Amino acid sequence: MDQDFVTHPAWMEFDLDALAANFKELERRVGPDVKIIASLKANAYGHGSVETAKVLFKHGVFALSTGSFRDAMAIREAGVTTPILMFGGNLPEAAARYLEYDLIPTVYNMETARAVSEAATAPAPVYIKVDAGMGRLGIELGEAEKFIREVSTFNNIKIEGVYTHLSFKDSKGQEWSKRGIERFNRLNDRLRDGGLDIPVTQAVASANLMVGHMDGSNAICPGALLYGLSAVNPDLASIEPFRPVLTAIKARLIHVGAFPDDLALKEGGYHTMRQSDRTGVVPLGLYDGYRKAQGGTPSVVLINGKRRPVLGISLEHLTFDLLGDETVQVGDTVTVLGADSGDEITIAEMASWQGTGLNDLLMNFDGRLPGRYRGG
Ligand SMILES: *Cc1c(COP(=O)(O)O)cnc(C)c1O
Repeated sequence: MDQDFVTHPAWMEFDLDALAANFKELERRVGPDVKIIASLKANAYGHGSVETAKVLFKHGVFALSTGSFRDAMAIREAGVTTPILMFGGNLPEAAARYLEYDLIPTVYNMETARAVSEAATAPAPVYIKVDAGMGRLGIELGEAEKFIREVSTFNNIKIEGVYTHLSFKDSKGQEWSKRGIERFNRLNDRLRDGGLDIPVTQAVASANLMVGHMDGSNAICPGALLYGLSAVNPDLASIEPFRPVLTAIKARLIHVGAFPDDLALKEGGYHTMRQSDRTGVVPLGLYDGYRKAQGGTPSVVLINGKRRPVLGISLEHLTFDLLGDETVQVGDTVTVLGADSGDEITIAEMASWQGTGLNDLLMNFDGRLPGRYRGG
C-alpha cells in the first residue's frame, strides 16, 4: 500500500498552468515558423515527465526529447503520441527497442548509424547530433559534413534533423556559444548547397533564448525556461516573464517540542543552536532530497509567513526553531520551498544556501516526494 498525505505528510506542488504559459511565451518569441522540441530530460528536470508531456502534447508541441528510455516509455504508455527525440544514452544494440517504442534515435557515430539501419524495416527517422564545441556527445563539427553525407546514403535511415547544444552561464560563454552556432549554421548551409535537404535544424536552448540570441535554424530545444528556471547567471539576463512550475515543497508539523532552556540540554544535538525553547519537526529530511546549508547561511522554513531557522537535518526529519511562537500546532503546514503569506523561499535561494545549482537541487528532490499538480 502506498503512503499518503497522512502517513507521510510531505509533498511537492507543481503548477502546470505555469508550464503552459511558459510554453506559449516561447512560441510567441520564436514565431509560427520555428518548431519547439521540448527538453524533458531527467524526468522533466524533476517535474514529472508524464505530467509535463501531457500538457505540452495538449498544447501542440512539435516534439519532446529526453535521454532516458524509462521516461520515454512512460510518456508513450501515458498515451502521448508526440514524436520523442532520444538525446543519447544508448548503445548501438538498443536501436531495435528504440524503434519499437517509436522513439527517434540520435546518431553521433557510425556504430549507431549502422545499428539503426540494420534494426529498421523501413527508413527510420533519426537526428544527427553535432558537437560544435561542448566536447561531450556528438560528431565533431569538422567531421560532420562527411559523416552526414555518408549516413544519408543508408537505405533504412531518413535524416530528419541535425542539432547541436551549446549551453552557457556568463558573457564569455555567450560569445563561445554564438561562435559555435555560426559554425553550425555554415555546416547546414554547406549541406543544403550540396543538395541534402534536412527538414529540422536546431541549436538554440534556454540560455540563448534568455539573451535573445536566435539563429538561422527552424527549431529550438528549450528545457530550463519551460520550467521557469534560469539557465544563465542572474547578472546576464532575467527570467521574467517565465514562471516557476515547481511552486512549493511543503510538509505538515508532526511535533512541537517545548524544551526547557537550560544549559545542560543546549550541549547536545539540535539544542546547541536554538534561540528559543520551542522547536518544530516535519517528516522531510535527507532521504526526501533536503540538503545541508553550506558556508554559514542557515536554511529556513516558513510558517505563517515567518522565517524559522533550521536546527538540524536528519535522514527523515527537519527540526527548526519556532522562535517562541506559541500559536503553531501539530498538523500546521510548513513551507520548505515556495511562497507563504508575503515571503518566499525561491529555488535559487535554497540552491544558494546549499552551495549548489538549480539542477543539483531538483535532482536531489526528484522522485522522492509525491507531486500535487494543478492546472495544465
Ligand atoms: C539539455 C539539453 C537541451 C535543453 O537545454 P536547456 O538549457 O535546459 O534549455 C537542449 N539540447 C540538448 C542536446 C540538451 O542536452
